[in-house]
Amino acid sequence: MPASVVVGTQWGDEGKGKATDYLADRMDLVVRYQGGNNAGHTILAEGHTLKLQLIPSGILYPHITSVIADGVVVDPRVLLEEMDGLAAVGVDPSRLMVSGNCHMIMPYHLELEKVTERFLGKNALGTTKRGIGPAYGDKAARIGLRIQDLFDEKIFREKLDVALREKNLVLTRVYGRLPLTVGLIVDDYMRYAERLRPHIADTSKLIHEALREGKNVLLEGAQGTMLDLDKGTYPFVTSSNPVTGYALASAGIGPREVERVIGITKAYVTRVGAGPFPTEDHGPGGERLGTLGQEFGTVTGRKRRCGWFDAVILRYAARVNGLTELFVTKLDVLSGFPTLKVCTSYRAEGETFEDVPSNQSLFHAAEPVYEELAGWDEDLTGARSIEDLPGAARAYLDRLADLVGVPISVVSVGPGREQSLPAA
Ligand code: GDP
Repeated sequence: MPASVVVGTQWGDEGKGKATDYLADRMDLVVRYQGGNNAGHTILAEGHTLKLQLIPSGILYPHITSVIADGVVVDPRVLLEEMDGLAAVGVDPSRLMVSGNCHMIMPYHLELEKVTERFLGKNALGTTKRGIGPAYGDKAARIGLRIQDLFDEKIFREKLDVALREKNLVLTRVYGRLPLTVGLIVDDYMRYAERLRPHIADTSKLIHEALREGKNVLLEGAQGTMLDLDKGTYPFVTSSNPVTGYALASAGIGPREVERVIGITKAYVTRVGAGPFPTEDHGPGGERLGTLGQEFGTVTGRKRRCGWFDAVILRYAARVNGLTELFVTKLDVLSGFPTLKVCTSYRAEGETFEDVPSNQSLFHAAEPVYEELAGWDEDLTGARSIEDLPGAARAYLDRLADLVGVPISVVSVGPGREQSLPAA
């Protein structure tokens, strides 16, 4: 049985949590492949609103093994808190498996991110200040600590000592902060180790064996394609790779295992933080999308920037991820607009761009070229099949699929499980 990948096609917050939850029904393993506790999936199930930042949303299904793969950075304190939170609402977290290769977020990562963002002033990246960027930085610099290091206190202490020698100099001499002490960190992390021990596994092998046994594996990304470290709008990006290619590296499987690549896309576009966003609407249209769509960050509570559907970035996402289908969310939010704008290309420096300009200055300067489609007034939240949608909403969806060149497989008209309508 094949693997499927769920990937965000815009700037994150597309509703991947909901999409994964919908698809999870048919899955045996759900694997989170990048990011850290900055993802903030919101899932509405069985009367509970659950906010999961790290644990894959598949945990809500008793038949699913949830996996955190190598490419995720893990703050063990946050992971344990999330597990306790699940247990408190009656969800059994014992089926969670975590790779021993995951790099850990350490207290100095949190501290350093706080002070460096302050130092950058108006050039601050607007990070979630969870220590995720600094943890990925240390991974690349090869001074990171991995979860498996927790299980040998001597090794853990040695590695921590090496890391702290440099970190404390930076904290004290550059930023005028107090140094961190090895002993206190060791005490805390050894306590985490005891609780995490039963959850640690060779997840690459686990995934491989599941695929050999004919099980269904869903690889779940966080953030979105335009926030990808390599493929996004650098430097206004996340510190890892949400694109499909990284799902393979992180899970440790080959490309031929993947059959479906499901691109999650909002019926409009939002973005948190700074960086280019050609279809942003600074007027009442954008305000209305933000209010009706409740566009506030799950993790930070920050107001998201809002704008119109951008077929240019979607075509790009389709290309760099190899999308086989689209899962369109939040169509219900568009009810009540007399007309809806859809961006088909950009204009920059006298030229027309059908694709995302590879030169970032051009992307910053890009002006959207819009096509206007008819809106609809009907409330869509009660629709239970595609046939229940008004003609204008169906025409809107058909046009999106046409412009992107990828078929739509599911349309979502509300946060509930029953509000996901199969479209193909
Ligand atoms: P993710 O990070 O991509 O999983 O996105 P979030 O979970 O942060 O954002 C999705 C938010 O929109 C959540 O609050 C969902 O409950 C909600 N949501 C998801 N799909 C729909 C939809 O079709 N309509 C509406 N109105 N809300 C939705």
